Amino acid sequence: MRALVIHAPRDLRIDELEAPQLQKGEVRVAVQRGGVCGSDLHYYHHGGFGAVRLREPMILGHEVAGLVEAVGADVDDLSVGTPVAINPSRPCGDCHYCLKGDANHCLDMRFYGSAMRFPHVQGAFAEVVVATAEQCVSAPASPLDCAQLAMAEPLSVALHAVRRAGDMLGARVLVCGCGPIGVLTIAVARRAGAAEIVATDLADAALEHAAAAGADRTVNVARLADGLAEFALHKGYFDVVFEASGTEPAICSALPVIRPRGVFVQVGLGGDAVALPMNVVVAKEIDLRGTFRFHEEFDWAVELMSKGLIDVRPLLTGTYALNEARSAFEIAGDREQSLKVQIAFD
Ligand code: ZN
Repeated sequence: MRALVIHAPRDLRIDELEAPQLQKGEVRVAVQRGGVCGSDLHYYHHGGFGAVRLREPMILGHEVAGLVEAVGADVDDLSVGTPVAINPSRPCGDCHYCLKGDANHCLDMRFYGSAMRFPHVQGAFAEVVVATAEQCVSAPASPLDCAQLAMAEPLSVALHAVRRAGDMLGARVLVCGCGPIGVLTIAVARRAGAAEIVATDLADAALEHAAAAGADRTVNVARLADGLAEFALHKGYFDVVFEASGTEPAICSALPVIRPRGVFVQVGLGGDAVALPMNVVVAKEIDLRGTFRFHEEFDWAVELMSKGLIDVRPLLTGTYALNEARSAFEIAGDREQSLKVQIAFD
């Protein structure tokens, strides 16, 4: 089988590898679509992020969907030909956090296409993936194509982020950073009952996607540096902030406009050493929360899409054949023309 393997920064190759063997309880999936994520781009451009560094060749990819090609012994709920989203998260199921139901904090997590541990956990940008039956989620309510199913993973991240924020009904919400996760967070917050959603970004193209996903108002903070100023009156306006850019200017710009005791959810990674005005957090009693990956939300993502409650199709801005993968990675990084780029493996 062919797989998309990162060997070093900007050294992305299509390698011919041996297809994995199907075992009991597993499903062999012919991958159709794989979405390029920010972390894939980090491996491609920089060989990793933060302390996470590529130390051996690794198959990229964790946003994939495909058709069931074969099922192993003891798998009776999936049949050949069924389209499935593959959950890239494989918690151990036995550790303290897994047993508590906090599987995204598993002490022995194996997440597809991640160099966090060594040997690295290989990803799913391959023509064939063998996964456990539990990882393979189908959409019985209505058929979804594999392009939509491959969006289950980023949608799960957005669902978990909104869940971390708590009650959304009637909330005034600010979303900073309108990449795929920011835009999906807007769609989820709207579905969860947010009364008003304002979105910020530096790129007009991203803000157009934000508006299409349900933002009431968009502010280009590159052109309009004080575009949020009116919301700072009377100690702030927003009940909830989702910070999805991970950049210091965006993080700091949200603090004056969140109301006292508002919930600030940090979604975006990258803000490793942000100079946060902690006195504002203290004096406004801001409820600062992180959000990381997802667990049961993956199944919810497929169900919400399958029932037509969240439409991810407008987010897809390009699909490229496997042999055009390098172009796909270059284009995926251009925020003026791309939101979500997928690679076609069929
Ligand atoms: Zn565990």
